[in-house]
Amino acid sequence: MESQILYNGSSKVVYKGEGDEDIVIRFKDYIAAFYNIKGARIENKAKMNCSISSMVLGYLNECGIATHFVKRLSDSDQQCRLVKHIPIEVIVRNVIAGSMAKRLGIEEGIVPANTVFDLCLRDTELGDPLINDHHAVALGLVSYEELDVIYEVSTRVNTLLMELYAKAGIRLVDFKIEFGRAADGSLVLADELTPDTCRLWDATTGERMDKDRFRRDLGRVGEVYQEVADRLANVLNK
Ligand code: UDP
Repeated sequence: MESQILYNGSSKVVYKGEGDEDIVIRFKDYIAAFYNIKGARIENKAKMNCSISSMVLGYLNECGIATHFVKRLSDSDQQCRLVKHIPIEVIVRNVIAGSMAKRLGIEEGIVPANTVFDLCLRDTELGDPLINDHHAVALGLVSYEELDVIYEVSTRVNTLLMELYAKAGIRLVDFKIEFGRAADGSLVLADELTPDTCRLWDATTGERMDKDRFRRDLGRVGEVYQEVADRLANVLNK
């Protein structure tokens, strides 16, 4: 019998797992941008993103970060923990790019003196608007105490991933993560971490190795995703 579908998005589908506490995330060979206005099939993308996200989340688990990732099940499938999702996107920026560059009129590539954290409400109809801590609490999404944990964990994730990607010759420009609550109420990182959700620039050439290649029609999307997977596998001995 086919498992129950809990969520069906453009680049992945989430099924109910075998245990009550489990889900299965199946990645798709599809890339979408600008709220699905632009999309394309990318051969092997499911395998590449499942591999990258499994390596990165597995590494974070080993480093003591609580994530929803349990194990990779196959080329395209991951077993993860079921959590109650908090509809907030946490964006961490080490280098100014994308929407922040555009919104504030800053040239892409400028390195700010501090790490920049953005919160966005996850609401497609509203265009995932930027919110602040007080909005998040006023909307009843999180408490101030939980925000402290979210910023602390996001900072640790950033430090760990900057180091990991640096070893792979890649600059971690920015990334987006989301959190959920486990049954005991504790916060768990519950998201993918792939070139779809991170900006990754080659440390030497500055070449973009992420979804911006698709957003901006730069070509060689599949090739650079494979390169990220290969470099991470090399660094992590996978
Ligand atoms: N991001 C994401 N999902 C979103 C919005 C952003 O994964 O709904 C990622 C994006 O890929 C980038 C980072 O978060 O790595 C910062 O994105 P930004 O705010 O610059 O928005 P963009 O210009 O990429 O839409």
